Amino acid sequence: SEGKRERNVYRFYTKQMQIDAARKMKLLGHLRAALMREELHLVFQPQIASDGRIIGAEALLRWNNFELGSISPGEFIPVAEESGLITPIGHWVIEQACAAAQHWDEEGLPPFPVAVNISARQLRQKDLVPQISSALQRCGLTPDRLHVEITESSVLDNPETAIAVLHRLNSLGVHIAIDDFGTGFSSLSYLKELPVDCVKIDRSFFLELPEDAKSSSLVLGIISMIDGLGLSIIAEGVESAGQISFLQANAPIVVQGFYYSKPLNNQAFIEFVRKHQQG
Ligand code: C2E
Ligand code: MG
Ligand code: MG
Ligand code: MG
Repeated sequence: SEGKRERNVYRFYTKQMQIDAARKMKLLGHLRAALMREELHLVFQPQIASDGRIIGAEALLRWNNFELGSISPGEFIPVAEESGLITPIGHWVIEQACAAAQHWDEEGLPPFPVAVNISARQLRQKDLVPQISSALQRCGLTPDRLHVEITESSVLDNPETAIAVLHRLNSLGVHIAIDDFGTGFSSLSYLKELPVDCVKIDRSFFLELPEDAKSSSLVLGIISMIDGLGLSIIAEGVESAGQISFLQANAPIVVQGFYYSKPLNNQAFIEFVRKHQQG
């Protein structure tokens, strides 16, 4: 009967919610100790300009737990955000990313910037800007060596504070990129109000390129709008040569994606840059 089916559906969801909640609790317990146990590390994914040069790298967090194994950021970042653990973890990410850039300098790599992801909660932190400037200073980096990636929704979370923080970062000389562009349903007017330097177009727009006519129109429209605002563009999650020739036929777009490289640990990243420079 209808009633019985509904009850079963209800039971199914309750059960699933219990599993989700238990998993989250478990992750949270382990995540609290992750920094101290040195279970976190950064990997780096190169960003490649249309002339083939590496012009930057995004730092992405990885977590390997002794009991749970490797957990994806898609799963643990939300737990870190909800619990507030993203504050100390995010601080660590900034420090480690700057230390990596300093290491690249020592290894003689070109002085390209490193990009870090910043959560909504970090934008509300009073000491975010001082944290960033002291990390830069300690590592002997000029502020233009650090890019911060924020999403539309993390700004909308608390617009006044976020906008103030972004202006302070901008006057410091740190570049700001809008991440996952096009996945939210927010107003676009913020693009002319915020001190944004770069827009990263989400990979979901490229999945059916170059064959699909609607995707092509969407992507071309987005590119021309961002270009018209004078902002630089990074196409994120590009996996095929076809996608690249479509994108770069229309604008000198920077590409970050598996086509060139997966995110690499720091040593592998350095080797990738060296090989790439020779080749
Ligand atoms: P994001 O910032 O948009 O990072 C790009 C994601 O796309 C990364 O996933 C990257 O590995 C993946 N990716 C890059 N190229 C390709 C491709 O060609 N194909 C496919 N399928 N995927 C590609 P990852 O490393 O799993 O990170 C997921 C998300 O977790 C990030 O999305 C970011 O929102 C968050 N995240 C990662 N590290 C940090 C961090 O240090 N702090 C914060 N707050 N969030 C982070
Ligand atoms: Mg990002
Ligand atoms: Mg993204
Ligand atoms: Mg993201």
